[in-house]
Amino acid sequence: TVKMTVNDFIQYFNQTKDRIYKEKDYVTELDSATGDGDHWVNVNKGFEQITSGLKDAPADLTFVDLFKNIGMTMFSSVGGSSGALYGSGYVAASKICKEKKYIHELDVHALYDVYHAILVEMMKRGKTEPGQKTMVDSLYSALQAYQEAMDAEKSEKEIIMAFIKGANDGAQATREMAAVKGRASYRTDKGIGHLDPGAITMAMQLESLGKYILN
Ligand code: ADP
Ligand code: MG
Ligand code: MG
Repeated sequence: TVKMTVNDFIQYFNQTKDRIYKEKDYVTELDSATGDGDHWVNVNKGFEQITSGLKDAPADLTFVDLFKNIGMTMFSSVGGSSGALYGSGYVAASKICKEKKYIHELDVHALYDVYHAILVEMMKRGKTEPGQKTMVDSLYSALQAYQEAMDAEKSEKEIIMAFIKGANDGAQATREMAAVKGRASYRTDKGIGHLDPGAITMAMQLESLGKYILN
């Protein structure tokens, strides 16, 4: 069963940092095609800062403080749109944990609530909706699949597998989308035919989370 502790999240962040680190050339290529080429640098720096900040995390760290720290780290050390979007997303995650008293453990419903809060905040902050070729597309698609699997009373394993597939499908779907937000929207072709870099790195993170849970 899904039972993510703060320590599990710290391990997930470490694994994701390694995954993102390996994707330098691919992600940079994507952001060079339709953006300014710095997306990998931004996200990679974010994960380096997050994981180094968590090295001396107290054993009783709560989800409220974990997500708040991560949000502040993203705001203060990551440039570009991603820093502000992930920063506000994680601050929203902290708030929902406080409200719903998710302190030391996230079950399958709580985990959904946390990522849903991130999605809603990113959409608000980015003034964007699904279908506009951004990082929101992978998260939205992942959560749609998650919700559908929960509604269909699938097993937790199937729910998490649906979440991973939803994330990757959402990222791939950005290829045919016309950008409404972000740098690709400044182009005459609106980036059609190119994957959105932010959607790809979002999917990498969500896939990494799903795989952590399944392992
Ligand atoms: P910048 O574009 O400022 O250089 P990054 O390269 O780090 O920032 O991030 C670019 C990614 O940010 C895009 O690929 C897209 O997924 C996402 N993005 C840009 N603007 C928005 C927005 N308004 N709402 C949601 N996501 C956005
Ligand atoms: Mg960029
Ligand atoms: Mg930039």
